[in-house]
Amino acid sequence: MIGRVMHWQAGIVAVALALAACGCQRPTQDSGWIDRQVVGEVMTHSELAANLRSLALAGGRVSGTPNAYRAEQFVVQRLRDYGLHDVHCEPFTMTSWLDRTTVVTVLDEPPSRLEGALSLGNCLSTPPEGITAELIDAGEGSATDFEKLGPAVQGRLALARENGSHRSAKMKLALEHGAVGMVLVAETPEHARVGRCHAEPRPEPGITVPGNAGQTLIQRLGAGEALWLNIKIEADAWDATPHNVVGEIPGRGPLAHEIVILSAHLDSWHLGEGAIDNGNGSAAILEAARALAAGGWQPRRTVRFLWFMGEEHGLLGSRAYVQAHDDELDDIVAVVNVDMPGSPRRLVHFGHPEVEPFLRSVRDALRGFEIAPEIGTSRGTWSDHAPFVEAGLCALCLPGDLGPGVQFYHTSGDKYDAVDIRATNQAAAALAVLVRHLADAPQRPCVRYEPTVLAPEIEHD
Ligand SMILES: [Zn+2]
Repeated sequence: MIGRVMHWQAGIVAVALALAACGCQRPTQDSGWIDRQVVGEVMTHSELAANLRSLALAGGRVSGTPNAYRAEQFVVQRLRDYGLHDVHCEPFTMTSWLDRTTVVTVLDEPPSRLEGALSLGNCLSTPPEGITAELIDAGEGSATDFEKLGPAVQGRLALARENGSHRSAKMKLALEHGAVGMVLVAETPEHARVGRCHAEPRPEPGITVPGNAGQTLIQRLGAGEALWLNIKIEADAWDATPHNVVGEIPGRGPLAHEIVILSAHLDSWHLGEGAIDNGNGSAAILEAARALAAGGWQPRRTVRFLWFMGEEHGLLGSRAYVQAHDDELDDIVAVVNVDMPGSPRRLVHFGHPEVEPFLRSVRDALRGFEIAPEIGTSRGTWSDHAPFVEAGLCALCLPGDLGPGVQFYHTSGDKYDAVDIRATNQAAAALAVLVRHLADAPQRPCVRYEPTVLAPEIEHD
């Protein structure tokens, strides 16, 4: 029996050696073979959770802060550990912003502090005595809401609910109608939700309040009470030089000059740990890079992994990248951008219908792993795909189900424990397969269009 087993083992070794010698071990056409290897690598050796813990536990990663620089270096080191090529940092300049303290007082008799209130992004420090104004309910802060209120908005603080348009659109309308600032009521009952409310740092205050506290204000206004608030913000805006982080798996052969990008923003807001937005995306593409490199895969096209900074302040890292790489945009076949991944549900493009047959073939490949995303379209400027789409390139996203943790993005609840690691690993595996197919497709599956300008943002950033 033992002799027979040894005989079979010797046979397997001999066949393996023969395959390796004739170069058949990595057949370029047998996509299923490589996909299985890559998915197996993620499912059995994932370093995603460990990498996400390292990124998240240090706290938020606001561009141009020490935590953010540490995170950039962490990704560089991991890429070198994983054997990626041309690992480097690309600096760019931006105005960063971070608040130190926000104190909001409801001027009742006696005055009381509005607990949990926070400054929105890009609001400069108020004068030391703060800004005092009467609150007015501006509904969802839409154009219709403000038109209905008319001149009543002048000199007031506009209270708006978080749903509907982007907070910066609400703020813009409020200021156009003469408001002195804005109070945004978060959908999360216990957490205020931050985010950029001005395109550039400006003096008009915007604050966010937890849902429960906001509802109390709404009810009091609804009952006809006059409510006055005093807002004091101390914030820093400074010239920062963050770095986009880059690593590659080089292509081989006549299509090696063509590039497939897999990107995620590494920066976050200062609240919590930036784990949901977008530590999980950063860790997912790092895991995809690791799994693709681990098997020694040699793609037809070059695969470039990119971690952008400055996303939360207005897609600044990806905009700088597109500008700096203008001369190679024609060679970028597609950009797969990952922002808050979960168990994959959809595979979407941004107005490039020619890519759909290819996306259907990727979905067929993913079905074997019980992932069957619906093919569709998306729009808006809510993440780093936007500068590429505006340059006419084909961008793809793989939105999914993040579980209950999704509600905590941009809040102090955005912590490692809120991330569904299993779902994020599933996203990492699916992203690796998607990128693998893009890089090995015999024909380029999408083309570059004329540059365009996208409609304003509709979702989070
Ligand atoms: Zn994000």
